[in-house]
Amino acid sequence: MKNIKNNIQNLKKKIQYSLKNNDSLIKKIKIIAASKNQSVEKIQMALSSGIYEFGENYIQEGIKKIKQLKQNNKIIWHFIGKVQSKKTKLVAQYFDWCQTIDREKIAILLNKYRTNKKLPINVLIQINISKEKNKNGIDIENYHNLANVVSKMPHLNFRGIMAMPNNKIETTNYNDYKNIQNIFNILKKQYKSVDTLSLGTSIDIKSALIYNSNMIRIGKNIFNC
Ligand SMILES: *Cc1c(COP(=O)(O)O)cnc(C)c1O
Repeated sequence: MKNIKNNIQNLKKKIQYSLKNNDSLIKKIKIIAASKNQSVEKIQMALSSGIYEFGENYIQEGIKKIKQLKQNNKIIWHFIGKVQSKKTKLVAQYFDWCQTIDREKIAILLNKYRTNKKLPINVLIQINISKEKNKNGIDIENYHNLANVVSKMPHLNFRGIMAMPNNKIETTNYNDYKNIQNIFNILKKQYKSVDTLSLGTSIDIKSALIYNSNMIRIGKNIFNC
């Protein structure tokens, strides 16, 4: 458990090294601790090491932790799992971000169920960048229309895109990273609200940061002790 603190220090060193100690870039990187299957005690350990944003994949598990940690109003909760339409109401009620919008129906329902909240929910469109059959996310050819729909919803704040390139190891084939970087640049020009590229997990932090990711979702490298 003590190792969580060390893991976070090492993660920050890795970010510094990947960005060649460029402080103005380093400052912009948000670390999301992917806390699926992790206990509230472990989340508290990450909190005491200065991590305030957490990503949950399973709605019931996530809500249980959100309720248990309610007294800490600094925490920002991201939903990073597959969104089923019947779960959109709970995502809209409990989470600050939804990173996994992959179809119009989900955007419409999230918008509908967010109406009674003061702030819109921050959303990312998930893109299936490596065109994998069983992966979540919208196809790269179709993200335009979905971005258009999402950007018009008053209770959604369209912040950008999320992707998980198919990488078992740090790779030298960077095409997927280049493509996602291009899409991010196009959307940033088109929509003022777009400022977030959520890309990079424990195995591909360096590649993600090189290709302009500013939000990394890290599980194993933080919680494995
Ligand atoms: C689990 C998970 C992560 C973190 O992956 P690690 O390999 O544990 O760093 C990131 N994104 C999503 C969507 C996840 O489900």
